[in-house]
Order: sequence, then C-alpha cells, then structure tokens
Amino acid sequence: MKLRHYELIAWGQRHIVWGTLRPVATLQVQEQVALAPFTTLGVGGSARFFARVASENELEEAVAFATKHSLPLFALGGGSNLVIRDEGFHGLVLHLAIGGEMQMSGAGDGIRYDVPAGVSWDDFVLSACEHGLTGVECLAGIPGLTGGTPVQNVGAYGQEVSQTIGSVRVYDRVVRAFLVLTNEQCCFAYRTSCFNTQPSGRYLVTQVSFDLKAGASAALRYPELKSRFLDSTPLPLEVYHVVREIRRAKGMLFSASDPDSRSAGSFFKNPFVPASRLGEIAEEAAVAPASVPHWPAALEDRSAPHVKLAAAWLVQMAGFPKGFSDGAVGISSRHSLALVNRGGAHFSDVARLRDRIREEVYARFSIRLEQEPVELGPETRDPF
Ligand SMILES: Cc1cc2nc3c(=O)[nH]c(=O)nc-3n(C[C@H](O)[C@H](O)[C@H](O)COP(=O)(O)OP(=O)(O)OC[C@H]3O[C@@H](n4cnc5c(N)ncnc54)[C@H](O)[C@@H]3O)c2cc1C
Repeated sequence: MKLRHYELIAWGQRHIVWGTLRPVATLQVQEQVALAPFTTLGVGGSARFFARVASENELEEAVAFATKHSLPLFALGGGSNLVIRDEGFHGLVLHLAIGGEMQMSGAGDGIRYDVPAGVSWDDFVLSACEHGLTGVECLAGIPGLTGGTPVQNVGAYGQEVSQTIGSVRVYDRVVRAFLVLTNEQCCFAYRTSCFNTQPSGRYLVTQVSFDLKAGASAALRYPELKSRFLDSTPLPLEVYHVVREIRRAKGMLFSASDPDSRSAGSFFKNPFVPASRLGEIAEEAAVAPASVPHWPAALEDRSAPHVKLAAAWLVQMAGFPKGFSDGAVGISSRHSLALVNRGGAHFSDVARLRDRIREEVYARFSIRLEQEPVELGPETRDPF
C-alpha cells in the first residue's frame, strides 16, 4: 500500500500526517483572518480559523479538522450576502473556492451546465449567454460565487435560480458523504431553500447543475427590461448586457471603487402581507392603493390572498431616502434597500441604521422587515 503525505498547517504549527486513502491536496488552516475583505460590505471582525478549500478532498479535510477540534464551521462564498459582526467568528470559516471547468452536455434544446461552486456567478451567466442559452440571463451581474446562489434562491428581474437548477452536489454533514440533491429536494421558495432553513450549514455546495434552453427567447418579464427592447426579441447576451447596465445605474453591480455598491445587496426582504391590508397601508402613506408598489404573491400555505410589497418603498416612506447618511454608513444614493459602508464602518454602525429603519417601518406600517443578508458572529450556531 502506497503512502502519501500531506500537510496540515494549524495553530501556527506544522503537522505531517500520513494517509492511505487517496492523494490529497495541501490544506492550510490560518489563524485570526480578517473577514471584512472577503465581503462586499466590508465590515466586521476576524475568523479564529480560516481555510480556503479548492477541492472536495480539501473540503473533507477541513470538515474533519473542525470536528476534531470541536469548532463551529461556516461556509463562505463570495461574501456578497453576508454581514460579519465586529466580534468575528470563533470557529472555522471554510472559503468554498472549488474551481475548475464548467461542463456543458446534452443535445437539442436542453443543455445541462455543471458549474463548480467556486466559479464566479457572473462568469457562468456570461458563458451561458455567449452560448445563446436562456434561463439565467436576467440574473447577470449578481455578485458572489455559483455555490452561493441556491442558498437563498437568488432572483432578479423575474428569474430565480430555482427555475433552472437541475441538481446540486453537496457534502452532507449529517451523513458525512457527498450526494446530489434534486431540484425538489432543495425546497426552493422566495429567498429560501433547504440550504438556509434545515438548519443552515448542513449542506456544503460543491457544484450546481443548470438546465438551460437553446434557441428559446430570452425572458423579459419586468417592465423595466421589456421597455428596453420594445417589440424586438433580444439574444440572451443582449439581455445580459442590458441587465448589467440597469444594475450599474442602481448601484447593484458590485465595484470596490463605487461606494454606492459597497453593500450586501438588498438589506431587507420584500414582505408579504394580506391583500386586505393594502388600503390601510396606502392611507398611512397618504397615497392611492394603486400607488403602493406590490405584486400578487403565490403562497400555497396561506388561505387569504397575499401580496408582496416593495421593501424599498416602505423604507423610503418611513423617512429613509436614497443617499441617507448616518456617520460611516448610509443608504445608497441609487438604491433604497442597499445599506452602504461609506468607508471605515463597523458592524455596529450598520446594525444601528438597520434597527432605526426597522423601528420606523414598524411604527408607521406595523410591518416587520426581515434582514436578507446572513449575519455571522460569535453566537452563530453550528448544530453539526
Ligand atoms: C451589489 C449586490 C447586488 C445583489 N443583487 C442580488 C439580487 O439581485 N438578487 C439576489 O437574490 N441577491 C443579490 N445579492 C446578494 C448576493 O449576491 C447573492 O445572495 C449571492 O448569491 C450570494 O453568494 P455568495 O457566494 O456571495 O455567498 P456568501 O455571501 O458568501 O454566503 C451567503 C450564504 O450562503 C452560504 N454559502 C455560500 N456559499 C456556499 C456553499 N458553497 N455551500 C453552502 N453554503 C454556502 C453562506 O454560508 C451564507 O449563509 C446582491 C448582493 C450585492 C452586494
């Protein structure tokens, strides 16, 4: 039996470990790594331990490391839906950067795209659109990595990843094995899935497979998008570029040099309310009911008809306009839902503004806004 060796660097020491199972890459576990630079909002403290995982073998090693040392574990992707608390995280942050080639297969209309978790989401969307495939073109320009997209069922301009995800390859920390979840097993709904509800942290996504269409028309459901093409039928790549343009204009295209985009995206989810409440909400805002931005909501588990309200509108009506400033933080001058770090902000600054907004919205409309980005801090539980 041939022995192979690998190294595990931890607690500043170097352990030489002999294994017999399979060739494994070098896993480096670093100590006290600042997490703010790994996020688009750029606030918060350090991880006690941090490992960049570039393969499934390294992932297993990292999980074993956390188990051996009884450390809570947290999966980090592109950090674009994440807020780090100032106290940091006392466990192991596993940066899931599994890269590699995207694989296309299938013939005719249906094309399957297998995308490693560490591939930039926008790179995948661009590649699909360049191949003339439809299904993800409206999701252009969303920051982060592909492995992060099933977690909150990423969506924009009338598309959600749940509409095209065929399956997701994961490491299941309960059964301690890699397995493939079908779309149905992912339990997708608005901004939720089994990855952030079951409880969060059970599954580590290593690959996402998308079922895309060749030769189909690009999706133009949102009026803002439709109006850009009038009666023409655009190619997926044209939609890709227009969506990015619209996003840039709203500060929703992340760029480190654009302070308006130094955010975690939309900070609040659009709330669902019974349709019967529209009248009183309009009255409170002193507008006609038709002027309250809302969409019909398909909520199978609710008997009364509901609508989805625009959280951005509620925030504005509660007295927080675009460009609002509160010390080192504020609201993007181009997007009412993006809390931005204007430079040197701490988590405490973000939390203070978040709480002020929530309190005002509740006081005025009796609606509790739910935070969209995941929050990581010393109290973050890892039940696995
Ligand atoms: C400017 C801007 C615009 C945005 N626009 C949109 C938008 O239009 N629509 C939308 O839905 N979102 C949007 N977002 C939010 C964000 O980009 C997406 O949610 C994105 O998919 C998060 O991916 P990530 O790799 O950055 O994940 P992270 O922020 O690193 O992590 C988010 C959550 O996913 C988990 N996670 C990440 N990767 C994995 C993995 N491989 N396995 C298991 N768990 C994992 C983390 O543990 C965490 O709980 C925007 C954000 C910004 C900053």
